Amino acid sequence: MDTFDNFIRGQWTRSRHGATFGDENPAKRGSNLGAFQSSTADDVREAIDAAAEAFKSWRRTSIADRQRYIAAFLNLLKDSRGELARIVTLENGKTIKESRAEVDSALVEGGHHLQQVAGFFDRAGQKSKRDLTTWVKLEPVGVAGIISPWNFPMNVMCRKTLPALLTGNTVVFKPATFTPWSGLFMTQLFERAGLPAGVFNCVTGLGSSIGNAIVDDPRVRAISFTGSTAVGKKIQARAAANLTRTQLELGGKNALIVMDDADLALALDAAATAGFSNAGQWCTSTSRVLLHKKIATRFLDMLVARADGMVVGDGMNESTDMGPVAGPQQYADVTAAIRQAVADGTRIVAGASSPESRAASPDGYFVRPTVLTGVTPDMPAFRDEIFGPVLAVCEFASFEEALALANNSIYGLSSAIYTTSAATAAAYVDGIEAGLAHVNVHTGYKEPSLPFGGVKQSGAGLPENSETGLEFFVDRKAVYERLT
Ligand code: NAD
Repeated sequence: MDTFDNFIRGQWTRSRHGATFGDENPAKRGSNLGAFQSSTADDVREAIDAAAEAFKSWRRTSIADRQRYIAAFLNLLKDSRGELARIVTLENGKTIKESRAEVDSALVEGGHHLQQVAGFFDRAGQKSKRDLTTWVKLEPVGVAGIISPWNFPMNVMCRKTLPALLTGNTVVFKPATFTPWSGLFMTQLFERAGLPAGVFNCVTGLGSSIGNAIVDDPRVRAISFTGSTAVGKKIQARAAANLTRTQLELGGKNALIVMDDADLALALDAAATAGFSNAGQWCTSTSRVLLHKKIATRFLDMLVARADGMVVGDGMNESTDMGPVAGPQQYADVTAAIRQAVADGTRIVAGASSPESRAASPDGYFVRPTVLTGVTPDMPAFRDEIFGPVLAVCEFASFEEALALANNSIYGLSSAIYTTSAATAAAYVDGIEAGLAHVNVHTGYKEPSLPFGGVKQSGAGLPENSETGLEFFVDRKAVYERLT
């Protein structure tokens, strides 16, 4: 079994305390893909020392040179697509096609950030000449702490890391505990791209052990975190001690509204794609399906047939439609949520009659695509994020009722409506409380030129992507200059 090291100051290093943790392939219970450093606060401190030291010269590296490093990294990423996709599938469980799509998405977003950064600095730096010359000087904030989740183990870290590096910051990165290998593979690509020592550092370990060491260090001036709302709140509270800025991309309970005038075939694709891709472990997954009463029975028949027809199994198999959930904890959480929903009086119309009856093989953490009907707003199945392939279905009689149901959530990440009425679409875009509003487009769709982030308890701080993805990592210095 391979042992994987941390990457600090351009060197592959063991944790000072010598402990390691394993990485289970969720399609094979009890497997172990490698031994990873179970780092401590001492290792994090060393990584921050390295990043703080490297910042002195990296902030003065020209934008063109920083772009060259990132372009080299993206070229390596493109060449490694197959190898990286395999690693993502092995440790996360998603299908190999989904892993390839994740790499492709990172390439598209990375290419966008690479192109946009020069214009971003130029626009802000334009000088206005009167008796005084004034301009805004954008400056990197310093060391950025990047903490990512396991559900998109390489794309999320790219979406944060590339803007941080392009704008002149140095990085201490902590991959999710379930998916350290993808993070370290990306780290190797940064090393091979020739990034100067200390500019990018990677420390693996438990969030509960090393997360605080990243967040509490006053030299870390920005924390970009994607993960659960519960951990996001803890990070924001701790970061407040040093007034460290945070970018928090958190949980969701995203609603798909299907009106009675909708194209039902399109709406069905949306529910299945956004509900069951990545085994439903998508922050922008559809998790509540709100159906107009007039089409509810017809739509449900179609949805159940689609869900029941899906091939669930090992994601390495090209013909698999849906892989396992990401590990034992996910499996326990998702199956407990389904059991609770049944106890609350909902009905499983698609999925295993009992969540424990395993879908494809007893070897992995498999949950069948599940559709629950009879869900009401007071139930946990309606309120709580179930991070798995579970759709909670409610019915409504009017658009106003649908909108009120969709907005009846502490979350506000993504949303979608299927309708052929422009007036309904406009009322929805105006009224929906979400960071992403889709009309006849599924809840998981996004483009890098638009902001990606949630409202309410789905996010805080500037969204990723678009200009705000860069803006998060810079300070604005107002310059007033009179030269005699
Ligand atoms: P998580 O909150 O358990 O962990 C996320 C990361 O935080 C991991 O790297 C973890 O090790 C680390 N961590 C844990 N405790 C910490 C602490 N006290 N201090 C600092 N770091 C700590 O989330 P997860 O289970 O990895 O991911 C699933 C969640 O992420 C879901 O809620 C999902 O909706 C959300 N998510 C959101 C987005 C988005 O863009 N809004 C995208 C993907 C996932």
